[in-house]
Amino acid sequence: MKIYSCQMHIDQALEELILQEEVYPIMEAVPESEKLSTKCTYCDESALYVVANK
Ligand SMILES: [Zn+2]
Repeated sequence: MKIYSCQMHIDQALEELILQEEVYPIMEAVPESEKLSTKCTYCDESALYVVANK
């Protein structure tokens, strides 16, 4: 599972992944090349972070 998130929704993304996967998530910056084409899961901002369980 992977959740893309902007600055504003990163806490929500971390929490959701913890609830669903029951592991502590890994948070990484979205690569420059993907930033423009990737939107936050919760709003229309560009995603800055990707939260994943591995
Ligand atoms: Zn957002």
